[in-house]
Amino acid sequence: MSDTGEVARRLMLNAARFSGLAPLLRGTLGGIGAILMLHRVTAAPPKPLGINRHLVVTPGFLDAAIGEMKRLGYLFVTMDDAVERLKVGRKLPRFAAITADHAYRDNLTEALPVLERHEAPLTMFVSPGLTNHTSDLWWDVLEDIVAARQEVYLTTPEGRVALDCTSPARKTAAFRQIHDYLTNDLPEEERQAVLRDIARLAGIDYQRPARETLMDWDEIRTIAAHPLVTIGAHTVDHYNLRRLSDEKAWFEMVDAARIIEVETGEKPRHMAYPYGHESAVGEREIRLAEAAGYATAVTTGHGVLYPAHAAHLHALPRMAVDGRYQSVAHLRTMLSSGVTTRLAKAGR
Ligand SMILES: [Zn+2]
Repeated sequence: MSDTGEVARRLMLNAARFSGLAPLLRGTLGGIGAILMLHRVTAAPPKPLGINRHLVVTPGFLDAAIGEMKRLGYLFVTMDDAVERLKVGRKLPRFAAITADHAYRDNLTEALPVLERHEAPLTMFVSPGLTNHTSDLWWDVLEDIVAARQEVYLTTPEGRVALDCTSPARKTAAFRQIHDYLTNDLPEEERQAVLRDIARLAGIDYQRPARETLMDWDEIRTIAAHPLVTIGAHTVDHYNLRRLSDEKAWFEMVDAARIIEVETGEKPRHMAYPYGHESAVGEREIRLAEAAGYATAVTTGHGVLYPAHAAHLHALPRMAVDGRYQSVAHLRTMLSSGVTTRLAKAGR
C-alpha cells in the first residue's frame, strides 16, 4: 500500500499538521471535493459511557471545521450542485457538501444556526420508521441498557446469558457482545423485538432516545422549508439492506421516498444507505438505489471525491465528522489524500 512517495507525503502532512502550514497542505489535499457526514450536533454533555460519542459533535467544532475548510478553499454546496461539479471535474474550486443522518432535533436547533452563519447547505437523510418511532435508535437504547444495569440478560437460541455490567469497561464489552449478536447473528427484522425484550427486562424505555433526540414531522417540515436544507432518504426502517431480500430492500428504498414526499411535499433525490459500510452496501444495493430513482446514494466508506465518482453516483464516499476527533488538525489530515484509509470508519 505504502510507497516512498506515500511515506514522504505523510511526513509532510504531519509537519504541516503541527506547524499549521495551510498553504503547504493545500497542494496535498485529496480529490476535488468531499461529502461530510454528521449525526448529532449539540453542546449538551455527552453520556458518561460515551459508547456512541463518535456520532456527536459540538456546534463549536462544526463552526471551526467549516471555517477551516473555507480557509483551505472549499466551497460549500448542495448535493445537487456536488453532482454537477463532479461531472465538470477538476476545473472548479474544491467543494464540500454537508450531510446529516436520522434528522436529530439538534440539527435544527444547534447545527442550523452555524450553517446559516456560513451559508453552508445541508442534506438531511430521514428514516421515516425512526421519525415515527416504529423503529428504534437501537444503539442508543443498548447504551442506555448497559449504563443503567449491573447485569444484562441476553436470550439467544443457546439459552439466556447474564452479562456483567459492573464497570465501564465491562459495560462496553457487554454492549459490543450484544451489538454483534444483534447485527450479525439475528435476521435484520428480528433485531428490534429482541432488543425491546432486553430493554423491558432491564426497565429501560426503548423509545426514549428517539422521542428525546429526533425531530417529528412538523420539525422536519420546518427545516425542509429552510433555503439551505434538502431532505434525503435513509430508508424506511434503517435495516442493513444487504441482509434483506431483494423485495424488502427495494421496498425500504422506494417507500422511504414515497413517505417523505407525502410528509414534506417533495420527493427526495438523494439517499444514504443505513450503516453504509461494505457489509451493508453491495452491488445489488447500488443497482436498486439507482433504479429507485435517486440521483445519488452515499455510503459511510471513508474518502474524498474524485472526477471518477461521476460514474459512481450511487456509491459515494463520505467523511465522518467524528465526535472522538474534534480537532481541525485531524480534519486537515482527513482531507489529505493517502491518509484517510488508515482512519476508522464510524457510521450508522
Ligand atoms: Zn443511519
